[in-house]
Amino acid sequence: MSLPRKAAIVVVLFLLGLIAIRHHKGSKPHEISRSRILLGTVVEITALGANAGHLDAAVTAAFAEMARIDRLMGPKGPGSDAVRVSRARRSATVSPETAKVVAVGLRIARVSGGAFDMGLGRLKTLWGIESDHPRVPSPAALRQTLIGTGPGDLQVHGDRILKKSPATILDMGGIAKGYAIDRAVAILRRAGIRHASVNAGGDIRLIGDHEGRPWRIGIQHPRDSKRLLATLSLKDTAVVTSGDYERFFLKNGVRYHHLFDPRTGRPARLSQSATVVAPTATLADALSTAAFVLGPRKGIALLERFPGVEGMIVDAKGKPYATPGLKKRITWP
Ligand code: ADP
Ligand code: MG
Repeated sequence: MSLPRKAAIVVVLFLLGLIAIRHHKGSKPHEISRSRILLGTVVEITALGANAGHLDAAVTAAFAEMARIDRLMGPKGPGSDAVRVSRARRSATVSPETAKVVAVGLRIARVSGGAFDMGLGRLKTLWGIESDHPRVPSPAALRQTLIGTGPGDLQVHGDRILKKSPATILDMGGIAKGYAIDRAVAILRRAGIRHASVNAGGDIRLIGDHEGRPWRIGIQHPRDSKRLLATLSLKDTAVVTSGDYERFFLKNGVRYHHLFDPRTGRPARLSQSATVVAPTATLADALSTAAFVLGPRKGIALLERFPGVEGMIVDAKGKPYATPGLKKRITWP
């Protein structure tokens, strides 16, 4: 082979190599999305990265971690700390994790003036909203069921949870899903994943962005499940919504749902939905329940007390109110 021909071949190979490198750098990452029924809802995890097998293993581990939290903090099963506290007369020792999550919940209980109350477990059973036979209780039954609830109903001392009354039933339903989401995120991060979303029935935490742009998160319209109320552009944060349209029954035209006003024992009436953006899903979950119960005026004021927290509350008539920081991230349809 003549020298010029050899040189030409070398040049062509070099150019092909360059193209291959550029193609590899510009190539799209793998994106996998898997769903499982967990924590009473559909949980979807989406993760992006270079290696599909690695993503798959990390997502499997994240689901297993969420199932562990459900067993530990959920309303049923022999492994549940919440069940053990509820059965105890005065106190029970729990795992350090449960103690930590209950402590966060008690802080939200304090700053919300008692709108968030994890001691309302008996109310849930009385109303049976998530059962096959929901009912509207009598005022006497409501009064009776509120015994053992309210300020100081629960306290944390180290790994011990103390109850005001043997009647107090610990219900972590307003916060445990958020914690499970945070744990899934910790597992994904530990596996080196830089771009992911964990979505448990609309309660979401995001890792990083989505292919160089913020994730676009649709917020469901509280009165029309086929419509979006708004879209939020977010990255590296949690966004959680509490609404009266998820678990409810209608009787004589009245909507009875699963978010209770601790003062009355009845479904809170000031909001249709409350969406909270916060650094962790644990905080966003508890705050969204509290903000829903408080309604737009007091709810927005509560959210503004937390650095890095934003939110939107839709009042009973369907009018949305947002914190100033969130307005920049909202697209209305
Ligand atoms: P979801 O679980 O439907 O996403 P939330 O996070 O707002 O909605 O939690 C609702 C659950 O919180 C209820 O099912 C109940 O277990 C519990 N809960 C209801 N009212 C309150 C309240 N005022 N404070 C704390 N927890 C509550
Ligand atoms: Mg909540």
